[in-house]
Amino acid sequence: MRINVIKSSMPPFEEYVEAIRPLWDSVWLTNMGANHEKLAERLCGYLKVPNVSLFVNGHMALELVLQAMDLEGEVITTPFTFASTTHAIVRNGLTPVFCDIDPEDYTMDVNRIEELITDRTCAIVPVHVYGNLCDVEAIERIARKHGLKVIYDAAHAFGTEYKGRGVGTFGDASMFSFHATKVFHTIEGGAITTDDVELMDKLWKLKDFGIKDEEVVDGIGANAKMNEFCAVMGLCNLDHIDEEIAKRRVVTERYRQNLSDVKGISIQKPQKDVKPNYAYFPIVVDKDEFGAGRDTIYARLKENDIYTRKYFYPLTSDMDCYEGRFDSALTPVAKRTAERVLTLPMSAHLTTGDVDRICEIINSCEGADN
Ligand SMILES: *Cc1c(COP(=O)(O)O)cnc(C)c1O
Repeated sequence: MRINVIKSSMPPFEEYVEAIRPLWDSVWLTNMGANHEKLAERLCGYLKVPNVSLFVNGHMALELVLQAMDLEGEVITTPFTFASTTHAIVRNGLTPVFCDIDPEDYTMDVNRIEELITDRTCAIVPVHVYGNLCDVEAIERIARKHGLKVIYDAAHAFGTEYKGRGVGTFGDASMFSFHATKVFHTIEGGAITTDDVELMDKLWKLKDFGIKDEEVVDGIGANAKMNEFCAVMGLCNLDHIDEEIAKRRVVTERYRQNLSDVKGISIQKPQKDVKPNYAYFPIVVDKDEFGAGRDTIYARLKENDIYTRKYFYPLTSDMDCYEGRFDSALTPVAKRTAERVLTLPMSAHLTTGDVDRICEIINSCEGADN
């Protein structure tokens, strides 16, 4: 049976149908309806954040929060991420300056940030990649010292906590993605969390064309509102989120048992003081030590109807659309990781039998390229 890298979790059909039934009476389908408001409120509780602004997707949330901050100049960020992070910066007329990553957890290497700061630097956009938390304390120290804004791409980090604090409370704002492929989803959707109520007001307008009231439009906004059907999907999925994360934990532990002693394959370790969400299971393959490279494992799994992804290859700084603009040789750890990383199937649907089979096939590749 085919196994994909990701399989969305669905709430029980009847629960969703019951929850959308009232929409046939109210006929309030979008524009901050009752379910939209209820979801925002419940997410404040679950994410342990003071405010949640909902969006049509995570990308627009990130693009508009950068716009709302009126930034100009250079933004220090990571190339080891999904295209969205870099695109959101560039589409705001800002210049990304790429920082290398930590070889253990693949987040921004905080020891490399300060050397990239110039008098044009306005902000830092780090990514909690795979749900691994950035060194939020060091980033806060650096940002304070240099007067920089910090906007986290927390697309992978739904529900994670650091020392009991919701991940969305760090920095000036955080963006979450609720895309169908994420740990928690609203089909398509996203959010900004922030403690800044003025920023919340700006976001409210910017996601609705910059409309202030019926006769005043005082912002050049976009249309990025979450509709009611998506908000209901979120409410239903939120009822099952703890179950979802618990199942992912079992899958993660099985992968760890099977792969932690394989020479030449590195897996990510649990982070200290972090409550994880088990969003992804990446492996980094050392071809010399394992005797087979990442691409061989990818192909062998595919022959067996198991579909992995080379997340995050290529680096965003190496994408065709940015040809000639950046030099990925300046982020050597990120470059090496991108060439060796493979994200294994991860979802609440996987059984320990599935995981064992995936790991057996991986093990069978050992020495295949010698
Ligand atoms: C998914 C994702 C996004 C974009 O979120 P969408 O909801 O798909 O728009 C941004 N950054 C990262 C790291 C992501 O994985």
